Amino acid sequence: MRARPPALPDSLTVELLAPCGMNCGVCIGHLRDRRPCPGCNDQDDSAKPHHCVACRIKLCEHLAEDPDASCVDCPEFPCARLRQLDKRYRLKYRMSMIENLKEVQQDGPETFVERERVRWTCGHCGALVSVHRAECPGCGESAENSYGAGLTRTSTATTTPGDAPGRSEKKGSG
Ligand code: SF4
Ligand code: SF4
Ligand SMILES: [Zn+2]
Repeated sequence: MRARPPALPDSLTVELLAPCGMNCGVCIGHLRDRRPCPGCNDQDDSAKPHHCVACRIKLCEHLAEDPDASCVDCPEFPCARLRQLDKRYRLKYRMSMIENLKEVQQDGPETFVERERVRWTCGHCGALVSVHRAECPGCGESAENSYGAGLTRTSTATTTPGDAPGRSEKKGSG
C-alpha cells in the first residue's frame, strides 16, 4: 500500500487546538498514515495514545465543566503542570504551549490557526511539517530552514517518536 501524500497546511483547523495549547494538527500522531489520532478534542479515544487519554491537563477539574474551556481561561494559568509541559516542548521542540494559548486569547483561534499554517509550512515544497520532526515529510528539507516567516519558537527539534503532550504530565500535581 502506498503511503498518503504529506498533509497540507489547510488541514489545520480550530477544532485541533487542545486545551493545553497543543496544536494537534502538527502532532506526529495526527499526521501518521496508520490510525491517525483525531486530536485531543475528539470524543473517540480509540486511536489516541494512552498518555493523551489519561493526560492530567485534559482531565483537570478546572476544564471539566466547559468543553470549550482551555488553560488560559483558568485562574491558575499557567499552573506547574502546564509549565512543565511548556518547558519540555520549548526545549525539545520549537513550540511553547503557553505562548500558543496567549496568542489564541489575544487574537482569536481563527487568526492563530492562520499563523500556524504559515509557521508549519515547508518553504520549499509546501507540505505541513510536524512539531515532532526535524525534517519536512515532503522533501526532507531541514525543518529549521523550511518554516515560513512568523516562527518565533526555539529551534532545537529532535526526532523523538510519538512524544505527545500527555506523556509526562499524566502524573504529579499541578
Ligand atoms: S497524540 Fe495527543 S497531542 Fe497528538 S494529536 Fe493525539 S491527542 Fe493530540
Ligand atoms: S489548573 Fe493547570 S491544567 Fe488545569 S486548567 Fe488550570 S492551567 Fe490548565
Ligand atoms: Zn518540504
